[in-house]
Amino acid sequence: MSTPPALRWPLPGPSLGVTGQPVTCPQCQAREGLLIGLDLDDHSAEPSHMACPDGHRWLEAGMPRHVGAQLLADAFDLDPTLYGRLDELRDIHEGDRL
Ligand SMILES: [Zn+2]
Repeated sequence: MSTPPALRWPLPGPSLGVTGQPVTCPQCQAREGLLIGLDLDDHSAEPSHMACPDGHRWLEAGMPRHVGAQLLADAFDLDPTLYGRLDELRDIHEGDRL
C-alpha cells in the first residue's frame, strides 16, 4: 500500500468511548449513524474526527485515533477485499458532505 487509507467509517451502532461515556454528537446528541475518520497509520492518542448524520463535526476525545485505526484493521482482517475498495468507500463517504 503506497497511500495510507484515510476515510470515514460508520461506527457499528451506539458506541462507548474509552472513558466509558457514550459517544454522542455534541450538537444534536445523535448516537447512531456516526462516522469516524480513520487512518490506518495514525496510532496516536489524539481525538478522532467524528461526524453525525446531520453533518455536524467534532473531535471525540473518547475515541483516540488508535481506536479508529484498530477498527479499520479489524475490518480488513474480516474482509481483505476492502483494500481494493478503499477508493470506492472514500468516494461514498466523501460524497456524504462530510
Ligand atoms: Zn449532530
